[in-house]
Amino acid sequence: MADVVVVGSANVDLVLPVQRIPRPGETVLAGGLTRGPGGKGANQAVAAARAGASTAFIAALGADDGGSLLRDALGEAGVDLSLVSTSDQPTGTAIITVAEDGENSIVVAPSANATLELSEQALYAVREARIVLSQLEIPFGTVQAAAAASSYFVLNAAPAAELSDELLAHVDLLVVNETEAEAVGGPKLSALLERVPAAVVTLGAEGAVILTRDAAEIRVPGVSVEVVDTTAAGDTFCGVLAATLAAVSTTGPITGRDLTNAVRRANVAASLSVQTGGAIPSVPHGEVIDARYA
Ligand code: ADP
Repeated sequence: MADVVVVGSANVDLVLPVQRIPRPGETVLAGGLTRGPGGKGANQAVAAARAGASTAFIAALGADDGGSLLRDALGEAGVDLSLVSTSDQPTGTAIITVAEDGENSIVVAPSANATLELSEQALYAVREARIVLSQLEIPFGTVQAAAAASSYFVLNAAPAAELSDELLAHVDLLVVNETEAEAVGGPKLSALLERVPAAVVTLGAEGAVILTRDAAEIRVPGVSVEVVDTTAAGDTFCGVLAATLAAVSTTGPITGRDLTNAVRRANVAASLSVQTGGAIPSVPHGEVIDARYA
């Protein structure tokens, strides 16, 4: 059985480099078009596998070219695909504009992702995993079912959404950026702890902050790097965090110190990912992360 199980989305990313992201009603010309594997779930599964965890992915793909593209990329990264199902809908697609300053904007057509349900085998893998990691690009009921069956459930509450108490009751660790944090807990970060026992808020170039109920807030400063493309920075962060937590949870419950170390490693990994273009192609391997992470 896999130590990390990712229940999530897989998309074909259509990436359009632009000078700046178009405003509402505006048309801009792109400098090119590339097509590559992505989607929050797929990116996070690749990140966990490359960081060294045995990782299985639960997802729905279409019976099309996009599905093959994703299977190849995930398989090459060493992700177990035995629980990936084929939907009668096409593979999800994301249109991503990347501006010269590295900022991006994304529109996703969920397609096959919207049909993802947990099979009996998938539920079994979720129950047996050390860490289950999910996001919000798949049906809410599927996230809820995975959360309820997990022994340690990490929710990356992205894209931003208001969340029910019913779901949050099963969340052991919430990972959000600042926009997503506000959607869950309002403007004050510490309010997240009224809803979940622990949270990590990523702060872009500023790194991340760890919030737990039994200790003071811990800031992990950002790593200063030259930004090429921030696509999949958050996904790299989540996947590496899950992989690192899975490794420590073999020896007992996850402590505050384990969480801090995992966030530091995830932060280094995410800073590496922003220095390369694309989603899955930008996700670093464990050796590269650990060469920078002391
Ligand atoms: P998201 O991409 O999900 O919006 P963030 O922008 O907070 O999330 O980025 C996630 C993580 O990626 C950060 O916590 C940090 O580790 C890394 N990161 C993002 N942008 C930069 C940057 N400009 N320089 C260094 N690291 C970055």
